[in-house]
Amino acid sequence: MTQLSPHPKHFLSDKVEHFTESVIREMTRQAMQHNAVNLAQGFPDFSAPAEIKRAAQEAIAADINQYAITWGAKSLRSAIARQMREWQGIEVDPEKEIVVCCGSTEAMIATLLAVCNKGDEVVVFEPFYENYGPDSILSGAKPRFVSLRPPQVAGAEWTFDEQELREAFQHQTATHHTKAIILNTPNNPTGKVFTRRELELIRDLCVEYNVLAITDEIYEHILYDGSEHISMARLDGMRDRTITINGLSKSYSVTGWRVGWAVAPPAITNAIRKVHDFLTVGAPAPLQEAGAAALSLPASYYRELAERYRTRRDHLIPALEKAGFRCYLPRGAYYVMTDISAFGFANDVEFAAHLVKDIGIACVPGSSFYKHPKDGSQQVRFAFCKKPETLDEAATRLAKLALG
Ligand code: PLP
Repeated sequence: MTQLSPHPKHFLSDKVEHFTESVIREMTRQAMQHNAVNLAQGFPDFSAPAEIKRAAQEAIAADINQYAITWGAKSLRSAIARQMREWQGIEVDPEKEIVVCCGSTEAMIATLLAVCNKGDEVVVFEPFYENYGPDSILSGAKPRFVSLRPPQVAGAEWTFDEQELREAFQHQTATHHTKAIILNTPNNPTGKVFTRRELELIRDLCVEYNVLAITDEIYEHILYDGSEHISMARLDGMRDRTITINGLSKSYSVTGWRVGWAVAPPAITNAIRKVHDFLTVGAPAPLQEAGAAALSLPASYYRELAERYRTRRDHLIPALEKAGFRCYLPRGAYYVMTDISAFGFANDVEFAAHLVKDIGIACVPGSSFYKHPKDGSQQVRFAFCKKPETLDEAATRLAKLALG
Protein backbone atom coordinates (compact mmCIF):
# COMPACT_ATOMS: atom_id res chain seq x y z
CA MET A 1 0.00 0.00 0.00
CA THR A 2 1.37 3.44 -0.91
CA GLN A 3 1.97 5.66 2.05
CA LEU A 4 0.21 9.05 1.60
CA SER A 5 1.92 12.00 3.21
CA PRO A 6 0.00 13.15 6.29
CA HIS A 7 0.68 16.81 5.43
CA PRO A 8 -1.36 18.82 7.95
CA LYS A 9 -2.79 21.09 5.22
CA HIS A 10 -4.46 18.07 3.65
CA PHE A 11 -6.71 17.80 6.70
CA LEU A 12 -7.67 21.47 6.98
CA SER A 13 -10.59 23.47 5.62
CA ASP A 14 -9.74 26.05 2.94
CA LYS A 15 -12.04 28.49 4.72
CA VAL A 16 -9.97 28.52 7.88
CA GLU A 17 -6.66 28.85 6.09
CA HIS A 18 -7.11 32.62 5.71
CA PHE A 19 -8.10 33.25 9.31
CA THR A 20 -5.50 34.68 11.62
CA GLU A 21 -5.69 33.97 15.33
CA SER A 22 -7.90 36.57 17.02
CA VAL A 23 -5.50 39.47 17.56
CA ILE A 24 -7.50 40.65 20.55
CA ARG A 25 -7.17 37.35 22.39
CA GLU A 26 -3.47 37.20 21.42
CA MET A 27 -2.95 40.63 23.02
CA THR A 28 -4.66 39.38 26.19
CA ARG A 29 -2.20 36.47 26.23
CA GLN A 30 0.73 38.88 25.87
CA ALA A 31 -0.71 41.11 28.59
CA MET A 32 -0.61 38.14 30.97
CA GLN A 33 2.91 37.20 29.92
CA HIS A 34 4.26 40.73 30.57
CA ASN A 35 2.06 41.46 33.56
CA ALA A 36 0.65 44.38 31.63
CA VAL A 37 -2.53 46.37 32.25
CA ASN A 38 -4.95 44.80 29.80
CA LEU A 39 -6.74 47.52 27.84
CA ALA A 40 -6.96 45.18 24.84
CA GLN A 41 -9.96 42.91 25.28
CA GLY A 42 -13.41 44.40 25.88
CA PHE A 43 -14.35 42.68 29.10
CA PRO A 44 -15.01 44.52 32.36
CA ASP A 45 -12.65 43.77 35.24
CA PHE A 46 -15.33 44.70 37.79
CA SER A 47 -18.29 42.80 39.26
CA ALA A 48 -21.56 42.05 37.54
CA PRO A 49 -24.71 43.42 39.31
CA ALA A 50 -25.42 41.46 42.53
CA GLU A 51 -29.11 40.94 41.73
CA ILE A 52 -28.43 39.15 38.45
CA LYS A 53 -25.71 36.95 39.99
CA ARG A 54 -28.26 36.01 42.65
CA ALA A 55 -30.83 35.23 39.94
CA ALA A 56 -28.31 32.87 38.28
CA GLN A 57 -27.58 31.12 41.59
CA GLU A 58 -31.29 30.76 42.31
CA ALA A 59 -31.95 29.34 38.84
CA ILE A 60 -29.29 26.67 39.35
CA ALA A 61 -30.59 25.89 42.86
CA ALA A 62 -34.12 25.63 41.43
CA ASP A 63 -32.80 22.99 39.05
CA ILE A 64 -33.12 24.91 35.83
CA ASN A 65 -30.17 22.88 34.64
CA GLN A 66 -31.41 20.98 31.60
CA TYR A 67 -31.73 22.13 28.00
CA ALA A 68 -33.89 25.20 27.66
CA ILE A 69 -36.25 25.48 24.67
CA THR A 70 -33.78 25.50 21.80
CA TRP A 71 -34.68 29.03 20.64
CA GLY A 72 -34.70 30.42 24.16
CA ALA A 73 -36.43 30.32 27.54
CA LYS A 74 -39.86 31.94 27.40
CA SER A 75 -39.05 34.27 30.31
CA LEU A 76 -36.04 35.72 28.48
CA ARG A 77 -37.79 36.02 25.12
CA SER A 78 -40.67 37.86 26.80
CA ALA A 79 -38.20 40.20 28.53
CA ILE A 80 -36.44 40.90 25.20
CA ALA A 81 -39.76 41.71 23.52
CA ARG A 82 -40.73 43.98 26.41
CA GLN A 83 -37.37 45.83 26.24
CA MET A 84 -37.60 46.33 22.50
CA ARG A 85 -41.04 47.84 22.94
CA GLU A 86 -40.02 50.06 25.86
CA TRP A 87 -36.68 51.28 24.49
CA GLN A 88 -37.27 51.37 20.75
CA GLY A 89 -41.05 51.18 20.27
CA ILE A 90 -40.66 47.96 18.23
CA GLU A 91 -43.36 45.30 18.64
CA VAL A 92 -41.85 41.80 18.59
CA ASP A 93 -43.63 38.44 18.86
CA PRO A 94 -41.53 36.44 21.35
CA GLU A 95 -42.98 33.18 20.00
CA LYS A 96 -41.99 33.77 16.39
CA GLU A 97 -39.34 36.46 16.14
CA ILE A 98 -36.58 35.76 18.68
CA VAL A 99 -33.73 33.24 18.84
CA VAL A 100 -31.63 33.15 22.00
CA CYS A 101 -28.08 32.04 21.21
CA CYS A 102 -24.71 31.47 22.90
CA GLY A 103 -23.75 35.14 22.86
CA SER A 104 -24.35 37.65 20.13
CA THR A 105 -21.33 36.01 18.49
CA GLU A 106 -23.37 32.90 17.79
CA ALA A 107 -26.42 35.02 16.88
CA MET A 108 -24.34 36.74 14.17
CA ILE A 109 -22.85 33.59 12.62
CA ALA A 110 -26.18 31.71 12.86
CA THR A 111 -27.87 34.64 11.08
CA LEU A 112 -25.30 34.76 8.31
CA LEU A 113 -25.47 30.99 7.85
CA ALA A 114 -29.26 31.26 7.70
CA VAL A 115 -29.38 33.98 5.03
CA CYS A 116 -26.25 33.72 2.87
CA ASN A 117 -25.59 31.67 -0.23
CA LYS A 118 -22.46 31.27 -2.27
CA GLY A 119 -21.95 34.42 -4.33
CA ASP A 120 -23.66 36.68 -1.81
CA GLU A 121 -21.83 39.76 -0.65
CA VAL A 122 -22.14 41.45 2.71
CA VAL A 123 -21.38 45.15 3.09
CA VAL A 124 -19.32 45.92 6.20
CA PHE A 125 -18.08 49.30 7.42
CA GLU A 126 -14.39 49.30 8.21
CA PRO A 127 -12.71 49.50 10.65
CA PHE A 128 -14.89 46.57 11.77
CA TYR A 129 -15.30 44.26 14.75
CA GLU A 130 -12.93 41.47 13.80
CA ASN A 131 -15.48 38.62 13.78
CA TYR A 132 -17.46 39.99 10.84
CA GLY A 133 -14.82 39.06 8.25
CA PRO A 134 -14.52 35.35 9.22
CA ASP A 135 -18.28 35.18 9.91
CA SER A 136 -19.01 36.23 6.33
CA ILE A 137 -16.49 33.75 4.93
CA LEU A 138 -17.80 30.86 7.06
CA SER A 139 -21.27 31.52 5.72
CA GLY A 140 -20.03 31.42 2.12
CA ALA A 141 -20.42 35.18 1.57
CA LYS A 142 -17.83 37.74 0.62
CA PRO A 143 -17.40 40.86 2.73
CA ARG A 144 -17.31 44.16 0.81
CA PHE A 145 -15.80 46.92 2.90
CA VAL A 146 -16.82 50.58 3.02
CA SER A 147 -14.53 53.03 4.84
CA LEU A 148 -15.42 54.91 7.96
CA ARG A 149 -13.15 57.94 7.90
CA PRO A 150 -11.67 59.28 11.13
CA PRO A 151 -12.57 62.78 12.28
CA GLN A 152 -10.23 65.44 10.94
CA VAL A 153 -10.77 67.88 13.81
CA ALA A 154 -11.13 67.28 17.53
CA GLY A 155 -14.67 66.34 18.58
CA ALA A 156 -15.90 65.62 15.01
CA GLU A 157 -17.40 62.24 14.05
CA TRP A 158 -16.35 59.29 11.91
CA THR A 159 -18.06 59.62 8.54
CA PHE A 160 -18.55 57.61 5.35
CA ASP A 161 -18.83 58.57 1.72
CA GLU A 162 -22.39 58.12 0.46
CA GLN A 163 -21.24 57.32 -3.06
CA GLU A 164 -18.82 54.63 -1.85
CA LEU A 165 -21.65 53.03 0.14
CA ARG A 166 -24.00 53.18 -2.84
CA GLU A 167 -21.37 51.54 -5.05
CA ALA A 168 -20.99 48.69 -2.53
CA PHE A 169 -24.75 48.05 -2.69
CA GLN A 170 -24.79 48.38 -6.46
CA HIS A 171 -22.05 45.84 -6.97
CA GLN A 172 -23.75 43.07 -8.94
CA THR A 173 -22.37 40.53 -11.37
CA ALA A 174 -23.83 37.41 -12.95
CA THR A 175 -22.64 35.44 -9.91
CA HIS A 176 -22.47 38.01 -7.09
CA HIS A 177 -25.01 40.24 -5.46
CA THR A 178 -25.36 42.15 -2.21
CA LYS A 179 -27.40 40.20 0.34
CA ALA A 180 -26.94 42.20 3.53
CA ILE A 181 -25.20 45.00 5.33
CA ILE A 182 -23.74 44.39 8.78
CA LEU A 183 -24.05 47.50 10.88
CA ASN A 184 -22.68 47.93 14.39
CA THR A 185 -23.99 50.92 16.33
CA PRO A 186 -22.72 52.06 18.82
CA ASN A 187 -19.60 50.94 17.04
CA ASN A 188 -16.59 48.90 18.03
CA PRO A 189 -13.80 50.01 17.51
CA THR A 190 -14.59 53.65 16.61
CA GLY A 191 -17.21 54.57 19.24
CA LYS A 192 -19.35 56.01 16.44
CA VAL A 193 -23.10 56.16 17.04
CA PHE A 194 -24.86 56.23 13.68
CA THR A 195 -27.24 59.19 13.37
CA ARG A 196 -30.82 59.00 12.18
CA ARG A 197 -29.79 60.65 8.90
CA GLU A 198 -27.08 58.05 8.29
CA LEU A 199 -29.42 55.19 9.18
CA GLU A 200 -32.07 56.56 6.83
CA LEU A 201 -29.54 56.71 4.05
CA ILE A 202 -28.62 53.05 4.68
CA ARG A 203 -32.35 52.21 4.91
CA ASP A 204 -32.99 53.81 1.51
CA LEU A 205 -30.22 51.71 -0.05
CA CYS A 206 -31.48 48.51 1.62
CA VAL A 207 -34.96 49.14 0.22
CA GLU A 208 -33.72 50.19 -3.24
CA TYR A 209 -31.43 47.15 -3.65
CA ASN A 210 -33.57 44.68 -1.64
CA VAL A 211 -30.86 44.07 0.95
CA LEU A 212 -31.09 42.91 4.59
CA ALA A 213 -29.68 44.88 7.52
CA ILE A 214 -28.01 42.81 10.23
CA THR A 215 -27.46 45.20 13.11
CA ASP A 216 -25.20 44.44 16.04
CA GLU A 217 -26.57 46.64 18.83
CA ILE A 218 -24.69 45.10 21.72
CA TYR A 219 -23.56 48.52 23.04
CA GLU A 220 -27.05 50.09 22.81
CA HIS A 221 -27.02 51.27 26.43
CA ILE A 222 -23.47 52.63 26.47
CA LEU A 223 -23.90 56.16 25.10
CA TYR A 224 -22.26 59.50 25.86
CA ASP A 225 -22.75 63.23 25.32
CA GLY A 226 -26.51 62.92 24.71
CA SER A 227 -26.18 60.58 21.71
CA GLU A 228 -29.21 58.44 20.96
CA HIS A 229 -29.29 54.81 19.90
CA ILE A 230 -31.73 54.20 17.07
CA SER A 231 -32.50 50.60 16.15
CA MET A 232 -32.55 50.08 12.42
CA ALA A 233 -35.71 47.95 12.74
CA ARG A 234 -37.54 51.04 13.98
CA LEU A 235 -37.17 52.95 10.71
CA ASP A 236 -40.03 52.87 8.23
CA GLY A 237 -39.57 50.06 5.74
CA MET A 238 -36.93 48.19 7.79
CA ARG A 239 -38.92 46.01 10.20
CA ASP A 240 -39.22 43.19 7.63
CA ARG A 241 -35.63 43.33 6.45
CA THR A 242 -33.71 43.77 9.71
CA ILE A 243 -32.12 41.23 12.02
CA THR A 244 -31.30 42.91 15.33
CA ILE A 245 -28.53 41.28 17.34
CA ASN A 246 -27.93 41.95 21.00
CA GLY A 247 -26.91 40.21 24.21
CA LEU A 248 -26.23 40.30 27.93
CA SER A 249 -22.43 40.62 27.72
CA LYS A 250 -21.94 44.37 27.60
CA SER A 251 -25.09 45.83 29.19
CA TYR A 252 -24.76 43.64 32.29
CA SER A 253 -20.97 43.01 32.44
CA VAL A 254 -21.31 39.23 31.99
CA THR A 255 -19.22 38.49 28.91
CA GLY A 256 -18.56 34.95 30.19
CA TRP A 257 -22.21 33.96 30.38
CA ARG A 258 -22.56 33.62 26.61
CA VAL A 259 -26.15 34.71 26.20
CA GLY A 260 -27.21 36.77 23.18
CA TRP A 261 -30.07 36.85 20.69
CA ALA A 262 -31.31 37.68 17.22
CA VAL A 263 -34.66 39.35 16.56
CA ALA A 264 -35.98 38.95 13.01
CA PRO A 265 -39.19 38.54 10.99
CA PRO A 266 -40.74 35.04 11.40
CA ALA A 267 -39.39 33.37 8.23
CA ILE A 268 -35.83 34.50 8.93
CA THR A 269 -36.18 33.63 12.63
CA ASN A 270 -37.25 30.15 11.60
CA ALA A 271 -34.11 29.71 9.51
CA ILE A 272 -31.86 31.10 12.28
CA ARG A 273 -33.51 28.73 14.80
CA LYS A 274 -32.64 25.73 12.63
CA VAL A 275 -28.99 26.77 12.31
CA HIS A 276 -28.79 27.56 16.02
CA ASP A 277 -30.29 24.20 16.96
CA PHE A 278 -27.64 22.31 14.99
CA LEU A 279 -24.80 24.56 16.14
CA THR A 280 -25.36 24.60 19.88
CA VAL A 281 -28.85 23.23 20.77
CA GLY A 282 -29.32 26.08 23.19
CA ALA A 283 -27.82 28.77 25.38
CA PRO A 284 -27.13 28.08 29.10
CA ALA A 285 -30.54 27.53 30.72
CA PRO A 286 -29.98 29.05 34.19
CA LEU A 287 -28.23 32.07 32.71
CA GLN A 288 -31.20 32.71 30.46
CA GLU A 289 -33.38 32.95 33.58
CA ALA A 290 -30.86 35.37 35.08
CA GLY A 291 -30.98 37.25 31.77
CA ALA A 292 -34.72 37.75 32.21
CA ALA A 293 -33.96 39.28 35.63
CA ALA A 294 -31.24 41.47 34.09
CA LEU A 295 -33.60 42.84 31.47
CA SER A 296 -35.99 43.79 34.26
CA LEU A 297 -33.53 46.17 35.94
CA PRO A 298 -34.87 49.73 36.27
CA ALA A 299 -33.99 52.56 33.84
CA SER A 300 -31.69 54.04 36.51
CA TYR A 301 -29.39 51.00 36.06
CA TYR A 302 -28.70 51.94 32.44
CA ARG A 303 -28.21 55.63 33.26
CA GLU A 304 -25.63 54.68 35.89
CA LEU A 305 -23.94 52.21 33.52
CA ALA A 306 -23.47 54.86 30.83
CA GLU A 307 -22.36 57.46 33.37
CA ARG A 308 -19.81 55.03 34.87
CA TYR A 309 -18.31 54.42 31.43
CA ARG A 310 -18.34 58.14 30.61
CA THR A 311 -16.23 58.81 33.73
CA ARG A 312 -13.81 56.10 32.64
CA ARG A 313 -13.61 57.49 29.10
CA ASP A 314 -12.90 60.95 30.47
CA HIS A 315 -10.27 59.45 32.78
CA LEU A 316 -8.31 57.54 30.12
CA ILE A 317 -8.41 59.96 27.20
CA PRO A 318 -6.51 62.86 28.84
CA ALA A 319 -3.78 60.40 29.95
CA LEU A 320 -3.49 59.08 26.38
CA GLU A 321 -3.41 62.57 24.91
CA LYS A 322 -0.75 63.68 27.38
CA ALA A 323 1.37 60.71 26.34
CA GLY A 324 1.15 61.72 22.65
CA PHE A 325 -1.84 59.80 21.23
CA ARG A 326 -4.43 61.54 19.09
CA CYS A 327 -7.77 60.24 20.39
CA TYR A 328 -10.99 59.94 18.41
CA LEU A 329 -13.65 60.75 21.01
CA PRO A 330 -16.13 57.84 21.26
CA ARG A 331 -19.85 58.68 21.54
CA GLY A 332 -20.75 55.13 22.54
CA ALA A 333 -19.35 51.66 23.40
CA TYR A 334 -16.25 51.44 25.62
CA TYR A 335 -13.26 51.77 23.33
CA VAL A 336 -11.13 54.62 22.13
CA MET A 337 -9.42 54.46 18.76
CA THR A 338 -6.22 56.50 18.61
CA ASP A 339 -3.70 57.74 16.08
CA ILE A 340 -0.08 56.87 16.93
CA SER A 341 1.77 58.72 14.15
CA ALA A 342 3.45 61.03 16.69
CA PHE A 343 5.49 58.09 18.05
CA GLY A 344 7.25 57.40 14.76
CA PHE A 345 6.81 53.59 14.73
CA ALA A 346 6.81 51.70 11.42
CA ASN A 347 3.45 50.16 12.23
CA ASP A 348 0.83 49.45 14.87
CA VAL A 349 2.04 45.92 15.60
CA GLU A 350 5.54 47.11 16.49
CA PHE A 351 4.07 49.90 18.57
CA ALA A 352 1.69 47.54 20.42
CA ALA A 353 4.60 45.14 21.11
CA HIS A 354 6.63 48.02 22.58
CA LEU A 355 3.67 49.19 24.66
CA VAL A 356 3.00 45.77 26.17
CA LYS A 357 6.65 44.79 26.81
CA ASP A 358 8.32 48.06 27.80
CA ILE A 359 5.47 50.18 29.15
CA GLY A 360 3.20 47.40 30.46
CA ILE A 361 -0.05 48.23 28.69
CA ALA A 362 -1.84 45.96 26.22
CA CYS A 363 -3.84 47.55 23.40
CA VAL A 364 -5.12 46.19 20.09
CA PRO A 365 -3.19 47.03 16.90
CA GLY A 366 -5.44 49.01 14.56
CA SER A 367 -4.67 46.78 11.56
CA SER A 368 -6.78 43.98 13.06
CA PHE A 369 -9.87 46.07 12.28
CA TYR A 370 -9.05 46.52 8.59
CA LYS A 371 -8.89 44.24 5.57
CA HIS A 372 -5.59 45.78 4.46
CA PRO A 373 -3.24 46.03 7.48
CA LYS A 374 -1.69 49.24 6.18
CA ASP A 375 -5.00 51.08 6.62
CA GLY A 376 -4.77 50.61 10.38
CA SER A 377 -1.01 50.77 10.67
CA GLN A 378 -1.03 54.09 12.56
CA GLN A 379 -3.92 53.28 14.89
CA VAL A 380 -4.38 51.33 18.11
CA ARG A 381 -7.49 50.74 20.22
CA PHE A 382 -7.83 50.88 24.00
CA ALA A 383 -10.76 49.47 26.03
CA PHE A 384 -11.77 51.50 29.08
CA CYS A 385 -14.27 49.07 30.64
CA LYS A 386 -11.95 48.78 33.64
CA LYS A 387 -11.88 49.69 37.33
CA PRO A 388 -10.73 53.27 38.12
CA GLU A 389 -7.60 51.83 39.79
CA THR A 390 -6.79 49.86 36.62
CA LEU A 391 -7.06 53.08 34.60
CA ASP A 392 -4.96 54.95 37.24
CA GLU A 393 -2.24 52.34 36.81
CA ALA A 394 -2.47 52.68 33.02
CA ALA A 395 -2.13 56.48 33.34
CA THR A 396 0.99 56.10 35.52
CA ARG A 397 2.55 53.76 32.97
CA LEU A 398 1.56 56.00 30.05
CA ALA A 399 3.55 58.81 31.67
CA LYS A 400 6.68 56.68 31.05
CA LEU A 401 5.82 56.62 27.37
CA ALA A 402 5.55 60.40 27.29
CA LEU A 403 8.95 60.77 28.96
CA GLY A 404 10.54 58.13 26.75
N1 PLP B 1 -20.26 42.45 18.81
C1 PLP B 1 -19.40 43.43 19.08
C2 PLP B 1 -19.42 44.66 18.26
C3 PLP B 1 -18.45 43.27 20.10
O1 PLP B 1 -17.59 44.25 20.35
C4 PLP B 1 -18.43 42.08 20.85
C5 PLP B 1 -17.44 41.85 21.92
O2 PLP B 1 -16.47 42.54 22.07
C6 PLP B 1 -19.36 41.09 20.54
C7 PLP B 1 -20.26 41.31 19.51
C8 PLP B 1 -19.38 39.79 21.28
O3 PLP B 1 -20.52 39.71 22.05
P1 PLP B 1 -20.99 38.40 22.82
O4 PLP B 1 -20.23 38.34 24.10
O5 PLP B 1 -22.46 38.62 23.05
O6 PLP B 1 -20.74 37.23 21.95
